[in-house]
Amino acid sequence: MTEASPQDQGPTAALGRLGGSPLRLLQVSAEIFPLLKTGGLADIAGALPAALDADGCEVRVLLPGFPAIRAGLQHAAPIGQFTLPWGESMQVLSGDLPAVPGGGGAVRAYVLHAPGLYDRPGNPYEDSARRPYSDNHRRFAALAWGAARLARDLDPEWAPQIVHAHDWHAGLVPACLKLTAGRRVPCVFTVHNLAYQGIFSADHFGDLGLPPSAFQMDGLEFHGQISYMKAGLFYADKITTVSPTYAREIQKPEQGFGLDGLLRTRRNDLSGILNAVDSAVWNPATDAHIPRHYAVGHLAGKARCKAALQEEAGLVVRKDAPLFTVVSRLTEQKGLNLVLAGIDTIVQGGGQLLVLGSGDPELENAFRHAAQLHKGHVALRVGYDEPFAHRIFAGSDVTLVPSRFEPCGLTQMYGQLYGSLPLVRAVGGLADTVVDADLATLDDGTATGIVFASFSEADYRHAVRRALALYRQPRAWARVRQTGMQQNFSWTQAAQHYRAVYLAALPDFSRAST
Ligand code: ADP
Repeated sequence: MTEASPQDQGPTAALGRLGGSPLRLLQVSAEIFPLLKTGGLADIAGALPAALDADGCEVRVLLPGFPAIRAGLQHAAPIGQFTLPWGESMQVLSGDLPAVPGGGGAVRAYVLHAPGLYDRPGNPYEDSARRPYSDNHRRFAALAWGAARLARDLDPEWAPQIVHAHDWHAGLVPACLKLTAGRRVPCVFTVHNLAYQGIFSADHFGDLGLPPSAFQMDGLEFHGQISYMKAGLFYADKITTVSPTYAREIQKPEQGFGLDGLLRTRRNDLSGILNAVDSAVWNPATDAHIPRHYAVGHLAGKARCKAALQEEAGLVVRKDAPLFTVVSRLTEQKGLNLVLAGIDTIVQGGGQLLVLGSGDPELENAFRHAAQLHKGHVALRVGYDEPFAHRIFAGSDVTLVPSRFEPCGLTQMYGQLYGSLPLVRAVGGLADTVVDADLATLDDGTATGIVFASFSEADYRHAVRRALALYRQPRAWARVRQTGMQQNFSWTQAAQHYRAVYLAALPDFSRAST
């Protein structure tokens, strides 16, 4: 891992090499907040353009034309079309994303208009039975070909100097840019979660339009299959992931998902850049979704938010009951079996638990059962509900994120800023963003939450007991909460890091022409 090479040159050096003109960047992702979100990827894809704009980059985004994205695209107009390797014609629209109130200006977007590929209800990746769509290799190869065509000649008025591709959905982008004919444009690839890799049968290779030489170990072949994630890692000029700790973890077998060897060979091109928080969206002093605003030193509003949340969730309205909450995809990754196992510890300690999430039906049922068993003390809301998530952080005392692995994690940062102490496992970005409350950190005022080490019920339960004990010491609790609310999770530093990585990826000829 190297936070070293590109970043250490710093933004000032980067600025010098740019010669003052904005760097033209095309960002490619499958999701973007506020139009389409299934997880943290959308939050980052939504915040990064404005953050980079403030840092002197001119960012446009490329997105698949999922219904929610088509519906939200403003001033849409066709700008051109191209033919995909399997013969289908693809129209490209250009338009504006809606501006986030309090955020930057409207972001220019290119959208692939292909109803046959993208116009399906529900999840962008899976059908209603949660099976990946059988043509996902084409749906996301189209995104890569769209990026390659935009990088070269599709829009006569604008071409990027660099492309930034996110996660396996855009993993083929660097391969297309490197292996197909036309102007060479460098590509930075960001891993948001190595567990999701975009693996497809080798039978589909002919659809990708890439030379046969790509299908080998030194390429995108992965145990006889096609891996879009591996394509991204192998062909990108620079690789980033979303926290420094995760950048180290994915180079080891335990969290490398079979790609740790490749990541080790690319370690000099790999950086961990910690995700940040979009303060236009996540700020308890201005949040439009919460019943009362509040801030450090003015916390009456938080108590009102807690009472309103307890009432809304069907929990007993009690000021003195510590309210533990989860806002999460319900998957094994998130350590929710530990949360289930620790319910008794919370309830017997006088606490309450509220879970918002959807996903694994077994986890849903287990939480539903617990809510029936502990009526008034445990509650579950199944589904995806952005405004409710905001109300939860505002009303919560403890945000639980006991993940098995966690590339960065956002909810532990939202929790801190909203005065809800994160209780997390020391893994990935959770380890980078929460300071455990022990005697020393309580004494010097740096504590921001509760951190536990091993993925075991015993360690998790002990962490819950520590949270309950801290809650019973109101002055210590208030101090930890205040330190959390004052954390600086702003995008400024991350944007500078990203720009330094972009500049490090630019070949000399391109740098000279910027
Ligand atoms: P991941 O990307 O692995 O899902 P992150 O913590 O990085 O995890 O990001 C999750 C994002 O999705 C956060 O913005 C969180 O608030 C949001 N989120 C997760 N589940 C839900 C839900 N059921 N309803 C609303 N928002 C959710």
